[in-house]
Amino acid sequence: MRAIQDAFPLLQSSKKIFITTHHKPDGDAIGSMLALYHYLVKKGHDVTAVSPSELPEFLMWMPGVNMLYNFEAESKVVLDILAQSDVIFGLDFNDFSRTKHMTLQLANARQPKIMLDHHLFPAPGWDYGMSIPEKSSTCEIIYDFINLCGDNSLIDQEISACLYTGVMTDTGSFRFPVTSAATHSMVADLKQKGLDHTHIHEEVYDSWSAARMRFLGYVLMEKMEVFPQYNAGLITLSRKDMKGYDVQSGDTEGLVNYPLNIANIKFATLITERPDEIKLSFRSKGDFDVSKFSREHFNGGGHFNASGGRSSETFIQTITHFKKILSDIHPQ
Ligand code: 5GP
Ligand code: MN
Repeated sequence: MRAIQDAFPLLQSSKKIFITTHHKPDGDAIGSMLALYHYLVKKGHDVTAVSPSELPEFLMWMPGVNMLYNFEAESKVVLDILAQSDVIFGLDFNDFSRTKHMTLQLANARQPKIMLDHHLFPAPGWDYGMSIPEKSSTCEIIYDFINLCGDNSLIDQEISACLYTGVMTDTGSFRFPVTSAATHSMVADLKQKGLDHTHIHEEVYDSWSAARMRFLGYVLMEKMEVFPQYNAGLITLSRKDMKGYDVQSGDTEGLVNYPLNIANIKFATLITERPDEIKLSFRSKGDFDVSKFSREHFNGGGHFNASGGRSSETFIQTITHFKKILSDIHPQ
């Protein structure tokens, strides 16, 4: 993969640009897509931004969200646009398979592919990019990209709001170790450009339905197991559990973090029964590498302290398997 600066000539004149992100996008995925979308439109490009799947409710306020395509709902239109595009950007993922149903089309596309991402171990297939695992978020990388292009002055309130959303959500509101001086400098710059950070925090975190709040109560009461001997907590959610509470897309977001609020718990896992697979989310505090854990045991990956994976066993088998691994490796 070549340096991002080598891709600048491609963007000199007006181009048809296709932007996408990972399946089940989060705040950083959508924040980085929309920030880059607004920036490239300002630069005179014809831009299409595509989410591989539907957006969570708590991001529906974001500037430009109505411009996004959902590949699962509009795949034919999206594939036509992809075929006619000149350049492809992949944001907040580094392996085409993370886009799920778009994997083959992206891998086979012949346009130059630019990756802007902060996950570990980028897969081959990208032509240009910035792959920086030390960065808090892809949004911070988009900010650096815009600055490298010499366009800091084009960052307006809309772009600021999108960038802030991704940085805020990926850093757990600036508390995770990936939050650096550069992260705070970026936010200081966005504030000077008129960012309303309270508004964004409220949109993302104080916009729950009563049903979602009650679901959280149920999950913590009934669905969380704590293993003090392994410094670990586990939440398991079957489809039946979620049906009973009318769980909407995005309502399970953040659940995996709760066990880490317990003293001495350093490793938290959420196992969710999805219609097509069993999904696992892992979070840790300190020096337990959940990216490695996920790669070794659950066909996944991600970051040192936040990762995800999947299992093709049944829901119950996956839980049993996970507990067996826990007792074998004895995380401390
Ligand atoms: P989440 O638990 O929120 O789905 O994911 C946590 C982090 O791990 C995110 O940064 C996400 O992009 C990454 N991640 C989740 N699932 C996978 C996976 O299957 N493979 C890889 N490489 N990364 C994943
Ligand atoms: Mn991210």
